Amino acid sequence: MEMQYRRLGRAGIKVSVLSFGSWLTFGSQQEIARSIECMGAAHEAGINFFDNAEVYAAGKAETVMGQAIRELGWPRHSYLVSTKYFWGIHRDTPNAFLTLNRKYLMESIDKSLERLQLDHVDLVYCHRPDPETPIEETVWAMSDIVASGRALYWGTSEWSADEIRAAWLIAEQHHLRKPVVEQPEYNLFNRSKVEKEFSRLYDDIGLGLTTWSPLASGLLTGKYADGIPEGSRGESVEWLREMLTDRDANAKVEDLKLVADEIGCTPAQLAVAWTASNPNVSSVILGASRVEQLQENLKALEVMGQLTEAHKARIDTIFA
Ligand code: NDP
Repeated sequence: MEMQYRRLGRAGIKVSVLSFGSWLTFGSQQEIARSIECMGAAHEAGINFFDNAEVYAAGKAETVMGQAIRELGWPRHSYLVSTKYFWGIHRDTPNAFLTLNRKYLMESIDKSLERLQLDHVDLVYCHRPDPETPIEETVWAMSDIVASGRALYWGTSEWSADEIRAAWLIAEQHHLRKPVVEQPEYNLFNRSKVEKEFSRLYDDIGLGLTTWSPLASGLLTGKYADGIPEGSRGESVEWLREMLTDRDANAKVEDLKLVADEIGCTPAQLAVAWTASNPNVSSVILGASRVEQLQENLKALEVMGQLTEAHKARIDTIFA
């Protein structure tokens, strides 16, 4: 089960096709040991990209990741770390909340580096578009952060194709550092951004993708077929509950399971392998609340080699 590495779009850096993220799973004290265990297992399996964001557990996910990296003692060249900005963690101020203004971005990167105990992050993302700040202001700030060495590459998350192209063109016009990566949701239930909206950007600007929620928050494991299992994300995150327990969606996952049974894998492995089989995806960011889940999902690497065009056509019919 060899890890594969892909160029981040046209950038020179290579990311493991499966990577590991920290949303909802890194934060509380009792989760620190578990997070360290998961990161250790991920790195051992060849994962080199660890995704984070300022807003995850209001900065604690960065603190935990920094602690894990330190305890695990990895050499700096062996991993990439990201962070992202938009929501902020100081909601009592107009300038550091739901924004991509220059002041917020320039101050936030320093705080993230402190929490991560790093002198640079590898990737920094604008976590959402900000309709109030001119894109030009954000592009200058992100470019300046990269120019200062506090981040090596920058990109966007859940921006539209038009917004990404506008940012790229501003950077081109002013000889600034260009965005190289977008981080969209991509899974069997959410395909149109990656497969349709962004289709021209891959060639035109060399956009790379690090995609999130390959299992639609766990729905694609099949574990929500009979309701909400104890201790699951569906139990703890109320706003996801309706999506996770949707009858039609769970019926589709049952059909996916039939294809997985034929291949001899789990629906989770098949869903991850399917996502990674899109060549425009540089890295599929996995989430796991326990190391056993991560170990199961990592076996998607084997399934990638078994997935045929005929399987994909059947999957297309199920999720049409
Ligand atoms: P998934 O869709 O893969 O969901 C992961 C969750 O599903 C786990 O935490 C676990 O939840 C459950 N799960 C995973 N594997 C299994 C398994 N084999 N069996 C049973 N349950 C399983 O990914 P995430 O939604 O966590 O997203 C991955 C990463 O992407 C995040 O950590 C984050 O870094 C990034 N992200 C980025 C966003 C953005 O806006 N840019 C938004 C969201 C995520 P549980 O055990 O609690 O049920």
